Amino acid sequence: MPADFYRPVEGGLQCTLCPFRCRLRDGDTGACKVRRREGDRVLTATRGTTVEHWSSVERKPFYHFRPGLPLLTLAPPGCSFRCDYCVNHRVSQYGRDPDSRVAPRDTDPEALVRTAAERGGGIALSYSEPSLAAELTLELGAHARTSGVPVVWKSNGFLTPEAVERVAPVLAAVNIDLKAAGEEEHRRLTGAPLAPVLETIRSMKAAGVWVEISTPLIPGTSAEDEQLARIAEFVAGLGPDTPWHLLRFTPTYRMHRQRPTSPERLGSAMRIGRDAGLRYVYVERALGAEGRATRCPGCGAEAVSRGVWGQAESRLRDGGCPACGERIAGVWNDVGANEGNRG
Ligand code: SF4
Repeated sequence: MPADFYRPVEGGLQCTLCPFRCRLRDGDTGACKVRRREGDRVLTATRGTTVEHWSSVERKPFYHFRPGLPLLTLAPPGCSFRCDYCVNHRVSQYGRDPDSRVAPRDTDPEALVRTAAERGGGIALSYSEPSLAAELTLELGAHARTSGVPVVWKSNGFLTPEAVERVAPVLAAVNIDLKAAGEEEHRRLTGAPLAPVLETIRSMKAAGVWVEISTPLIPGTSAEDEQLARIAEFVAGLGPDTPWHLLRFTPTYRMHRQRPTSPERLGSAMRIGRDAGLRYVYVERALGAEGRATRCPGCGAEAVSRGVWGQAESRLRDGGCPACGERIAGVWNDVGANEGNRG
């Protein structure tokens, strides 16, 4: 489909969607491999999706946004990053890795929103990089506005400020991966600079989008205490109520010879987050139900419990602790969509 997010510059058309800001001559493909110049326009493969299935909001993961919300999940192809540990590399490395042979199907944004509305759910763009599907997101958002269907992203946050400004108003929530604390480590892991990711996180938060952060514990970089402490410090700087998800590394793709993160390492990473002042630090699986539980920062009572497959049981009352009433930051079902969204 024809893309948006580009402008004429000397010697070509410049894509303005991500900070690579590729200059495209006729026939060129961008670094993301999903945008291509053809004559005097740019086309994108990201109006199609490689996946269309129902999942739960907890599996993205979002733990403080509408517990139990079913999400019609789409995965337009491609990614602006090229991480060696990507579990979704067959979708994300579309056009870059010969092993990625997915064929995206065209989408009907209006029908997708209608389907989500009929089930009382939302729409998620996940598994690959949703920001490369900014046009699709805007279309979904335009249809979703009148039906109250939330649109959410699980993203790498690698967008230009002008792209963030356009997409933030249609997004209800984003979970952004913060993969390293330093420029050098981030470039090594992803092939891209870190600073724009930090800027996107701050801008999404400032725009009123509900923000949760995920950090994969990658051996040799983000799994190290020093990196984790600096990432935790940044997340705490967004506000101590910002949920921080620690993602266990499992051997895959070009890192299939590495060992998975041990439960002890994940436990110690949780402590690093709490020492930084974060109130809500989570591990989806390796630490059992306790790693998925939301506890009141005031009295310690369990306010939301979650199962392995995302089913949630919320005991919140008016967005507060069931025992002492202290407010738990989030967008909760019992206080209406988007209340408490400035946690
Ligand atoms: S999205 Fe990024 S990588 Fe892709 S063409 Fe645009 S600037 Fe280049």
